[in-house]
Amino acid sequence: MSNILMNFVNGQRLSVNSDNRIPVYNPARDTLLSEIPDTSADQVDQAVQAAKAAQVSWGRLPAIQRATALRRISAKIRQNVDRIARVIVEEQGKVLGLAEVEVAFTADYIDYMAEWARRIEGEIIQSDRPGESIFLNRQPIGVIAGILPWNFPFFLIARKLAPALVAGNTIVIKPSEETPNNAALFIELLDGLDIPDGVINFVFGSGRTTGDALTSHPDVGMISFTGSVETGSRIMASAAKNITKVNLELGGKAPAIVLADADIARAAKAITASRILNTGQVCNAAERVYVERSISDQFVTALVDAMKATRYGDPLGDKPVDMGPLINRAGLDKVNSLVKSAVDQGAEVLTGGRIADLGTGNHFEPTVLMNCRQDMDIMRKEVFGPVLPINVVENLDEAIERANDSDYGLTSSIYTQNVSSVFRACNELRFGETYVNRENFEAMQGFHAGNRRSGIGGADGKHGLYEYTTTHVSYVQI
Ligand code: NAD
Repeated sequence: MSNILMNFVNGQRLSVNSDNRIPVYNPARDTLLSEIPDTSADQVDQAVQAAKAAQVSWGRLPAIQRATALRRISAKIRQNVDRIARVIVEEQGKVLGLAEVEVAFTADYIDYMAEWARRIEGEIIQSDRPGESIFLNRQPIGVIAGILPWNFPFFLIARKLAPALVAGNTIVIKPSEETPNNAALFIELLDGLDIPDGVINFVFGSGRTTGDALTSHPDVGMISFTGSVETGSRIMASAAKNITKVNLELGGKAPAIVLADADIARAAKAITASRILNTGQVCNAAERVYVERSISDQFVTALVDAMKATRYGDPLGDKPVDMGPLINRAGLDKVNSLVKSAVDQGAEVLTGGRIADLGTGNHFEPTVLMNCRQDMDIMRKEVFGPVLPINVVENLDEAIERANDSDYGLTSSIYTQNVSSVFRACNELRFGETYVNRENFEAMQGFHAGNRRSGIGGADGKHGLYEYTTTHVSYVQI
């Protein structure tokens, strides 16, 4: 009998009578870890009603008291880093060091958002009428629905919960069906923290049943979603029924541009790090490379060496590894078929290119592909695996034009020592973020937001916090 996870609604763990259970596997070992119920619409409604009722008094608390509650959560997370990190590794497959960073970053992120409690600002605006004051105030939206992916599952709980709560909202979270165990541990950590019932709720289940019930619920004030473009589009359609606000953090196809004057070793190292991190399953990581012709041989040699040196396997196995498995068989098949179709269309495999047979697990070899044309799927679709397709360009103009030629617009990067190339890239790359001479990884005080199909709204920093508020204006005559 495997462990069946329970929802968390109104401060209570609720077991769900559902014949539809979803199994959760260790992606490196193919072993069953637990099962989740496929929570139905009426039980989702209970969670939303609990969050709605709790929001009234939570929203009236001084923000600093909400921040104090958040800090109790971050302190508890810090006391349990090892345990949480291990659960993440078991169900998601990232390496332990990265899981530890994810957990520590989560606690820091909660504290960072808590610090905003005394800095949520409104405005006083001059009125045209004598004796009148115009006050612009930031108020909570109400109930937030947080729908999570599996790639940074623990951090993404905090990325939604911390700004939502400090701004006075309550939340119902649906973790990914691939990685619910870390959320179950988060629920356990809330024990004894004196967070009012109903402020934080979790419902487990599939996107089709539980996710759809949550995103089409009329009492949800905002849907904060991180995941694929396809699901984002479905969620917008659900949201349209009730005109619910959406905040969408979707997929990416980040270009990395390497110019002739780049520090080649640094570029190869950073691009490899960006692609290997979490086995390439990161929305903002380098997904396609444009290298200037005059240095392409030298750069490609350095890149292939770095990718070849990547050790992969079971992150909890006997040997140290830099990279674990892909999340599931579907992810592995998708990476494999994109690589195969690129090769069929003329791409050359410089290293890797195949599913790695390690006995168990969804492993793909670290791969570099040369001669990738702009019209190939490998240059246009999100691969989400340890694969770097390369396209040679003549100059910066051509690199920027090809980089911008994408449905996605999340992140981008450039490697150069020429300051005017840097400023051209920062001004002309049509992406939410541009990283210069460094790997793609955002900071909590920035603003993580995609252009085009990569999303609507954004997360982090002041602007990310204000996404969780609504602007109210009062016209006051006394
Ligand atoms: P996914 O879209 O398959 O699933 C994400 C979540 O949506 C899951 O919890 C799923 O159950 C739920 N869902 C599915 N269908 C739904 C529906 N109809 N209604 C409501 N909810 C539904 O994505 P994934 O495979 O978990 O994550 C990988 C994707 O996430 C990649 O495309 C990646 O680029 C993206 N991502 C983006 C960011 C970012 O910040 N922009 C960060 C991490 C991941």
